[in-house]
Amino acid sequence: MSSTGNLKAVRVYLESFGCSANMADGERMLGCLEAAGAQTVSNPREADVLIYNTCAVKGPTEDRMISLLKSAPKGRKLIVAGCLPLINLERLRREVSFDGVVGPAPTSEIVEAVGRVVKGEKPAILKVKPKPEPDMPVKTLFPVRRIIVAAYGCLGDCSFCCVKFARGRLRSYSPEEILKQVERAVKAGAREIWLTSQDLSCYGLDAGSNLAELLEKVVEVEGDFKVRVGMMNPNHLLPILKRTVEAFAHPKIFKFLHVPVQSGSDKVLRLMNRFYTSQDFETVVAAFRRRLPDITLATDIICGFPGETEEDFQQTINLLEKVRPDIVNLSKFYPRPRTPASRMEKLPTQVVKERSRVLSKLAGDLALERNRKWVGWEGEVIVDEEGWKGNLIGRNYAYKPVAVSEGKLGETVKVKIVAASRYCLKGEILAS
Ligand code: SF4
Repeated sequence: MSSTGNLKAVRVYLESFGCSANMADGERMLGCLEAAGAQTVSNPREADVLIYNTCAVKGPTEDRMISLLKSAPKGRKLIVAGCLPLINLERLRREVSFDGVVGPAPTSEIVEAVGRVVKGEKPAILKVKPKPEPDMPVKTLFPVRRIIVAAYGCLGDCSFCCVKFARGRLRSYSPEEILKQVERAVKAGAREIWLTSQDLSCYGLDAGSNLAELLEKVVEVEGDFKVRVGMMNPNHLLPILKRTVEAFAHPKIFKFLHVPVQSGSDKVLRLMNRFYTSQDFETVVAAFRRRLPDITLATDIICGFPGETEEDFQQTINLLEKVRPDIVNLSKFYPRPRTPASRMEKLPTQVVKERSRVLSKLAGDLALERNRKWVGWEGEVIVDEEGWKGNLIGRNYAYKPVAVSEGKLGETVKVKIVAASRYCLKGEILAS
């Protein structure tokens, strides 16, 4: 990397936002910058160059990014990286005074951008490589967890989505490239591997492979680790459902399933251009639960999509009440620039607000109900992060977060679940 730019003595602060893929991109940027001689710092006020690796998936996220960029410490060079520049460059240029701009997942491009801003140039490197070279240096921010991007982009064309403008069409890494990264991470001490992408269910369809095949290979990697499989849309999962469920049964895969349904109404799903029905979603969930009854189910709902009637909304409620997910990631609909949905007629704000309130209450009740089922359970958790109030958070085999008072990061401890809230379980350490 040092040939791409000598950044000796340049102090760089980098902060990443948004999805796990963007977090992984940020870790790779830090690795590349350090390999080029830069010193990475954890306080923006100590930096010569600030890099904000942005997200702009929703309107409120974009607003938050813009205000953060506006209030960045002055007197330093400012580089905007990540998805925002490709989603709303016009607004960025209008509202923020920045020095450089770089598209998502840069490697040598971020080194070049830093080198140029310190010389007083104003680089705009929006065309980055289709996908980063898999063996680039990485500086991990989580000691126990390693995020590995299996593919960039997706095969979808969802009418509400602006992410595709930033991330493009599917570009998968080969299983061999991914396995090498997993091996390297496990050797370096990772106990949790997050496999991630914009839509993991279509992994490999551009390269003669598929997700089930990848998982079968990943669990063969030697070492004491577990894999958390990222978000999978139902339509690409259906053709590989049986094999993927079997792959999930392996002890090295967390029993954690993230399948976004977005709406319980097939009419709304058509308007969203999602290419599956609510029944398809139910089929996927039923197949996993038949084989793995304790699996944690996470789903996503967009509330108040244009054209969503009271009846459509009721269908979403009915679906959630029937399927009873552990986690519902709820978003109100916000039109995003250049998307077909932004040209559809919006529902009144008050209606969206009220529907969101109802769904949020239901999601909370379901989460609590699902978590309470774990009270009394005894088993192992991997301590993977520091929580608040001095607690540590561990994860059991279903990736349920368990607050524990003792243990070290990376350690496996035996617990008994003594209480449950909407967000977390409380574990008491048992003598091993
Ligand atoms: S699958 Fe749909 S929502 Fe997801 S990134 Fe692709 S276009 Fe966007």
